[in-house]
Amino acid sequence: FTIPAPVNEPVKGYAPGSPEKAAVKEALAAYRSVETDVPMIINGQAVRTNHKLRISPPHDHKHTLGYFYEGNGDHVNQAISAALSAKAEWASLSWENRASIFLKAADLIAGPYRARINAATMLGQSKNAYQAEIDAACELIDFLRFNVHYADEIYRQQPNSSPGIWNRLEYRPLEGFVFALTPFNFTAIAGNLPASAALMGNTIVWKPAYTQALSAKVIMDVFNEAGLPDGVINLIFVDGPVAGDIIFNHRDFAGIHFTGSTKVFQTIWATIGANIHKYRSYPRIVGETGGKDFVVVHESAHVDEVVTGLVRGAFEYQGQKCSAASRAYIPTTLWPAVEEGLKATLSKVKMGGVEDFTNFVNAVIDKRSFEKISEYIETAKTAAGVTVVAGGICDDTIGYFVEPTVLRVNDPTYRTMCEEIFGPVLSVYVYEPEQFDAILDLVDSTSPYALTGSIFSKDRTVVEHVTNRLRESAGNFYINDKPTGAVVGQQPFGGARASGTNDKAGSALNLYRWVSARTIKETY
Ligand code: GLU
Repeated sequence: FTIPAPVNEPVKGYAPGSPEKAAVKEALAAYRSVETDVPMIINGQAVRTNHKLRISPPHDHKHTLGYFYEGNGDHVNQAISAALSAKAEWASLSWENRASIFLKAADLIAGPYRARINAATMLGQSKNAYQAEIDAACELIDFLRFNVHYADEIYRQQPNSSPGIWNRLEYRPLEGFVFALTPFNFTAIAGNLPASAALMGNTIVWKPAYTQALSAKVIMDVFNEAGLPDGVINLIFVDGPVAGDIIFNHRDFAGIHFTGSTKVFQTIWATIGANIHKYRSYPRIVGETGGKDFVVVHESAHVDEVVTGLVRGAFEYQGQKCSAASRAYIPTTLWPAVEEGLKATLSKVKMGGVEDFTNFVNAVIDKRSFEKISEYIETAKTAAGVTVVAGGICDDTIGYFVEPTVLRVNDPTYRTMCEEIFGPVLSVYVYEPEQFDAILDLVDSTSPYALTGSIFSKDRTVVEHVTNRLRESAGNFYINDKPTGAVVGQQPFGGARASGTNDKAGSALNLYRWVSARTIKETY
């Protein structure tokens, strides 16, 4: 049998009076009224320590949602042992059995767990209902289902044979354990990084961002209910350097599946390099690490499309997407209309907590992030050659709120045009139309990243020219659309340069990294 390509999970609308809205409201209220206990899960067992850390909603940081338990080096070692012990049985389980567990997990999220995983993501990570739905529900479901389809295709690929000779490829999992290190900003990524490697027969030590603890628990509950054997995915909350010191010194470390900052990834890569003689095999290093994603607007662009693309691309989920539009290049001929459109749209955008479903903007993830973003904005306010077009107010009295902020800069190399801020800040450089080619050079040269980017133009010659000129500047390139919101099975996601190893999440290209094939030649 063949597993057909699934259809993407339909996005629910959360209209007033809809059953999905009622279900999420109920789940939100439940999380608000009872404190959630989030233990580590090692070899299927809940592990609690004396080091309890508070979980709070970023938009209401004085409220306590629950606690998670921070572990130490012993827990890292226990998680590695659990992964290694579970390995042989998991890897020898038939492919159909492994696939069926993850397909069941997808169905559980699509059905009984949908409201809970969305509510956990809304409260714990400050996402509005729509942003949670496209992430924690739809994208995670899609990852799980499409991965099974792509893996099935991989396992079917076999070399040629001839009379008297049978050649085959055995797609073994990696030898050892895989470390999944995941970010706060997408529950889907947090679930997919351990799950995709596990699907291919690997066993995992999973360390999520502490700020994703609430939805991490739901993911583990789902995998458990779907029948994932103990020890296949082990969830730990341990300080990064403590965990890294043990994992990257371990003989059986087989690979890392990472999404996070460029700096952390480079440190990890260097550590792995320094320890390379300690490992049994060369570890697979797979990472997605950030961006400084561009929007190039040509004179021929449609202004309304540009405004919508910028507002959604830059400010959905408070700009906390690696793919967020954070720098735009706009011709003088269009700028007055675009500026007016941005101001008009942003004046109507509401900011606040997630319980009010009309809030488009919620809080940024934590104090550290709030301070980093505020510093960029405060410095920009007094910098020569920078104008605050919209927003600019940061207030963390109740939650970590940063207004969607548009800065117009006179210098296209100003820091907000080059550095990743990871917040709701869009920098705009307004250019003379005849400088268009010079602008394309700037797009390519002023940032080390190459994750996503967009061209807005109604002129096919321009579109083709820009698509070719910026070939290396983005791993996901969008024509007349925002640079965010890649859909699994439709736009495989990832970038090169400082943005990562470009092993496209949600595609066979990623899954290949989690197998180590054996060629078998048999003669008779
Ligand atoms: N895949 C997401 C998108 O297309 C971004 C993922 C990320 O932020 O790491 O918007």
